[in-house]
Amino acid sequence: MSDHKPVRVRFAPSPTGDLHIGGVRTALFNWLFARRHGGKFILRIEDTDQKRSREDSLGGIMTGLRWAGLDWDEGPDIGGPYGPYVQSERLDIYRHWAHWLVENGKAYRAYETEQELEQIAAARKAQGLPPGYDRSARRLTPDDWARFDAEGRPYVIRLKVPLGQETVFTDLVRGEIRVQNDSLQDAVLLKSDGYPTYHLAHLVDDHLMDISHVVRAEEWIASTPLHQILYEAFGWEPPKFAHAPVILHPSGGKISKRKHPEAAISYFINGGYLPEAVTNFLCNVGWNYGAKDEKGEEIQIFSKEDAAKVFELERMTPTGTKFDVVKLHWLNGEYIRRMNPDDLAVRLREPLERAGYEVNVDVLRRVTPLIQERIKLLNDVVEWTAFFFVDDIHLDDPVQLIQKGMTAESTLNALQRALAVLQSLPDFTASGLESALRAVAEELGLKAGQFFGAIRVATSAQKVSPPLFESLEILGRDTSTRRVAQAIDLLKSAG
Ligand code: GLU
Repeated sequence: MSDHKPVRVRFAPSPTGDLHIGGVRTALFNWLFARRHGGKFILRIEDTDQKRSREDSLGGIMTGLRWAGLDWDEGPDIGGPYGPYVQSERLDIYRHWAHWLVENGKAYRAYETEQELEQIAAARKAQGLPPGYDRSARRLTPDDWARFDAEGRPYVIRLKVPLGQETVFTDLVRGEIRVQNDSLQDAVLLKSDGYPTYHLAHLVDDHLMDISHVVRAEEWIASTPLHQILYEAFGWEPPKFAHAPVILHPSGGKISKRKHPEAAISYFINGGYLPEAVTNFLCNVGWNYGAKDEKGEEIQIFSKEDAAKVFELERMTPTGTKFDVVKLHWLNGEYIRRMNPDDLAVRLREPLERAGYEVNVDVLRRVTPLIQERIKLLNDVVEWTAFFFVDDIHLDDPVQLIQKGMTAESTLNALQRALAVLQSLPDFTASGLESALRAVAEELGLKAGQFFGAIRVATSAQKVSPPLFESLEILGRDTSTRRVAQAIDLLKSAG
């Protein structure tokens, strides 16, 4: 990098609800950049919007980030040399700097009421001018202020945008951006309740916290000229800026929590996704690894630690990128397949327990390799393996036992023969069971699919299950024979 300021970046969410997937991506890009340069990644909570902030949201944000493996070096829970890291605990700082700007002629007090502001905006519109504020309070004198204050009229502090000039800044992704100052609003910096707006608070904090690079969502790029002016007003050196592109839904438009459940991180946490797959996927939304495999194809699967070795802000894409949850579903399956089965077993326990099953860890460890190739989400473990974790299974209807081309009688006979094998086979292993049961199928003139299908339903109450012989071995002789005997009783009572 051109200068030698240590890298300090921040993720600065407003605690207004569940963590948005776009927020996770912003946090991830900041994390990657910090790790790439041996810098610091800071978590700062921007809760100065009293109307929108929700107390329960902070815990969710931290849980979401921890789940994704995005650990921070300074933040509200762990502190750090630049704290506090929650903006509502720093209000005096913002007030001090807002008044400093007024004293130095860079900002001014404005006393308009909501209603007056609406009238101003409407009048401007009628004259064909851009809506917003007409900067009229610039003309007030300190005497006017004293008079209004004596009347008890509240005021806001507005930035005095230098008119007749141009503001230029560089976005590391999009290059140079130029804006005519006259097109900018004299933005409110301090509200009449003494709370700062985002513009003031984040900027004061970025400066005081020695932030070197601001990596944030594209929605803020339009405000960046204003921020540039504010840095100049303070006489502070601005950080470098990089805006991450908008995340689009495949159906078009921005991905939003209101319309798309997958816009919230909880969708992935509760849905059985692996955090490694989610962060890998998000790396590809607006950035790319930039390397090819031996077949010349873009490398799509990589860890965030690998990405951190090559991450540069300049390689973010400037245009909106799609977030396709169907592809993430696929990627999650790939991750599951690549895992060590014992590690996978550890992760599969939680969804089973959440679904109310008491998990025998040894059974789960043995079952895991049987389903590893078959599941895409951790939660899929429930439908595949729940029958291992209950004493008895429930077959609603004996008809489920009867396979294509068979009758109730032939099924009954087949199950009785199977039961005899299960009871007497000395070698109750997958291979022992397979050869003994295949021999019986042949003897009965049944296709393997028919005979084994009936045994499968009898022992699992499922049409589709992990491989039968391995499953029987894990269920063990007692459970397998008891379930087949119960199926026989069911068929008999129905007949
Ligand atoms: N609090 C802002 C948000 O949640 C942060 C924007 C920024 O990173 O500057 O969008």
